[in-house]
Amino acid sequence: MHSLVTGGAKGIGRAIVDVLLARGDTVYVFDCLPESHEYAQALRDAGAWYTSVDVSSAESVRAGFNAFASHQRSQGVESQILTLLVNNAGIVRDGLVLRMREEDWEAVMNVNAKGVFLMCKAGLPLLMHQKTSYIVNIGSVVGLTGNPGQANYAASKAAIVGLTKSIAQEYARKNVLANVIAPGFIETDMTDKLNDSVKNIILGKIPLGRFGNIYDIAYLVEFLSSGKADYLTGQVLGVNGGLY
Ligand code: NDP
Repeated sequence: MHSLVTGGAKGIGRAIVDVLLARGDTVYVFDCLPESHEYAQALRDAGAWYTSVDVSSAESVRAGFNAFASHQRSQGVESQILTLLVNNAGIVRDGLVLRMREEDWEAVMNVNAKGVFLMCKAGLPLLMHQKTSYIVNIGSVVGLTGNPGQANYAASKAAIVGLTKSIAQEYARKNVLANVIAPGFIETDMTDKLNDSVKNIILGKIPLGRFGNIYDIAYLVEFLSSGKADYLTGQVLGVNGGLY
């Protein structure tokens, strides 16, 4: 399979890249880190192809897909192939609504919601030409529940649900299967930033009593695109240790 992962340089995205490489996929990564960054080099060393893309910019996404096409041509793939698109890149800019700056709202909506739209728009013409293809968008449990201090983030993740369900209906006839994975709290740099008292409050709400692991998400991406889940589209799958 030819699989493209955004935000694949670290955290959940990197685990997804590793699981897909282990399956034998040809893996392409779009992340905003510069091409010379050690994480980009680490991806190349692992066997993935990397290019620097800011998913919130239409121009940058266009340039990324052009680089992707040139790379495939250089590998002897004449008409571009994409079978799996994983929209994982995401950011937080937390704060209570009354203190939230307009730029914090816009930055989060631009990366988390508009970025997924831009990537799907650019990827769909390629995905539609496969017998079956997959979009997996990484949402969040807070997109379904809301969360104090994360109005922008929760709204951006809720937007992904509506976007994904619409795409699932628009492109079902082309066998493009689109689903959302909504993680709970997963141990990454994003959650490392929380202080211990906040972490303990969250842990107290998780029935399984622990944070999730990046591979809890990566293995579900693998399953959704395995051919064993091809009647599953337009769904939101929570991976959250029972937290709602
Ligand atoms: P990380 O911050 O560890 O990784 C996110 C990656 O996305 C980074 O490599 C980051 O690059 C990249 N990125 C950020 N902005 C852009 C952009 N504009 N264009 C391209 N790449 C970008 O996050 P996680 O691994 O924790 O999260 C991955 C996804 O999972 C996110 O969508 C997040 O919202 C979601 N999620 C995470 C949860 C968690 O508990 N960790 C819970 C629920 C959902 P850089 O570091 O340079 O900014």
